[in-house]
Amino acid sequence: MIKKILVANRGEIALRIFRTCRIMGLDTVAIYTHVDRGALHVRYAEEAYCVSDSLEDTSYLKPRKILDIAKKTGAAIHPGYGFLSENADFARQCEKEGIIFIGPSADIIECMGIKTEARKLMKEAGLPVVLGIEKPLASVEEARQVAEEVGYPIMLKALAGGGGKGMRLVHSEDELEAAIRLSKSEAGNAFGNDAVYIEKYIEKPHHVEVQVLGDRYGNVVHLGERECSIQRRNQKLIEEAPSPYLKPEVRTAMLELAVKAAKKINYYSAGTLEFMVDKEQNFYFLEMNTRLQVEHPVTELCTGVDIVRDMIEIAGGNKLPYKQEDINFQGYAIECRVYAEDPVNNFMPSPGIIKVREVPEGRNIRLDSSVYAGFEVSLHYDSMIAKLCSWGRTRQSAIETMRRALREYKMLGIKTTIPFHQRVLMNEAFEKGDYDTTFIDTRFDKEDLKKKKSSDPTVAVITAALRHYELEKSAAARATTLPVIGESLWKYYGKLQMTANNY
Ligand code: ADP
Ligand code: ADP
Ligand code: MG
Repeated sequence: MIKKILVANRGEIALRIFRTCRIMGLDTVAIYTHVDRGALHVRYAEEAYCVSDSLEDTSYLKPRKILDIAKKTGAAIHPGYGFLSENADFARQCEKEGIIFIGPSADIIECMGIKTEARKLMKEAGLPVVLGIEKPLASVEEARQVAEEVGYPIMLKALAGGGGKGMRLVHSEDELEAAIRLSKSEAGNAFGNDAVYIEKYIEKPHHVEVQVLGDRYGNVVHLGERECSIQRRNQKLIEEAPSPYLKPEVRTAMLELAVKAAKKINYYSAGTLEFMVDKEQNFYFLEMNTRLQVEHPVTELCTGVDIVRDMIEIAGGNKLPYKQEDINFQGYAIECRVYAEDPVNNFMPSPGIIKVREVPEGRNIRLDSSVYAGFEVSLHYDSMIAKLCSWGRTRQSAIETMRRALREYKMLGIKTTIPFHQRVLMNEAFEKGDYDTTFIDTRFDKEDLKKKKSSDPTVAVITAALRHYELEKSAAARATTLPVIGESLWKYYGKLQMTANNY
């Protein structure tokens, strides 16, 4: 029986999981580093434990400490995404020490963590895979041969890959040797494993993925697909459900095959099968993510399912509470990942204190965020600070609601990717659903981002800026040494406005 849950993570996903715990009447345990003392997930939980050893230590990767806290508090562990979520040793250690790990089996995590192994397994389970090899490259000579066989362009990929790292597009044999060197060194640095392999590069590809949920009694359902082709450097920025690209018969085939394969490998918990879809709508298995995915909210919006709740029920030994035919798909959902990065300056991280924060509200909006006005966005962690989702009965309505929400969303003090999302949401090709993973590089006018429109401050931002000024003034009055507040209100406001996202 699960009574308490420790989330071995930070940020919006820790909060996301805690919220479901509260609904289910489960107690919550947060872990944090000294940098995150003031983080929202720490405030939200009933108990919170610091995992830092010193002021220099900013890491959340503390398996031993986390296991000890879980034992001490009697909590099950939900790993969220990233960090320890796809670490098979950690899941195995939980099993050994009698701690419930809210995820799939350690063996499945291990197998899916090595891309070539995953390809092998899923091929056997009946899925078409991208043309390529199922073992690491032994030499440059072998790479030449394989590349010749599958035909250029090819993708060099890290066996242990994730987060788009160690991946390289190679157009011809001249580039191959250098590319292997770079790929290996990037993979080695990122994963401590420099093995690489080859896949055929799918031209103008769509990234479409299937959300599955399975229990320990052999029941598996799908919750539809997500289109995740708005990417930068092979990393998702905007996702939507359902895919605007797939033909109905292709969609049906993909969903059915995904469920069949998940059943065949006895998959339980939530998982995502990622596919590449080519120009002719042939689809190929890419990899399986054995965890809760960042973009799971769009699926929740279209199905009404609480994926975290079901993960917890399944980990507690319960059966899936519904069958495939009980799941109703309704409408369209879009997610924009909001990063503390400057889209005008090559998406450079933009850490700092959020001075003013105005969030979108109202009909058909979902915001999963981890920050507040006064919170300092640190350079130590992933720069994603929020996920903004919209829902609509039609895709057009979801787009219009997202445009409206992005206009309402204001953060002063740091740069964010909100202006980038505004541009994409206004793009004609995007509006038509006519885009693939090359969209940002080939069809999106980046220059447009740099053209600052004459600033159009809303009353809300002016009011918020003034309020912020007043708060700083009263704080300054209480302080022993007076900071510089001699400048005029309007000059001050002007400075704040220069960092506003409202263009
Ligand atoms: P990661 O583990 O980093 O998520 P994936 O294998 O899922 O790596 O690939 C991430 C992205 O890289 C894909 O969504 C796609 O845009 C691109 N990509 C990967 N493999 C290929 C391929 N064979 N052909 C074309 N694009 C690919
Ligand atoms: P929105 O949801 O943003 O209003 P939609 O495109 O979903 O935009 O709906 C357009 C219009 O249809 C709205 O006036 C809405 O109230 C109405 N409407 C909503 N649901 C239904 C329905 N099930 N059948 C017919 N019309 C509907
Ligand atoms: Mg992936």
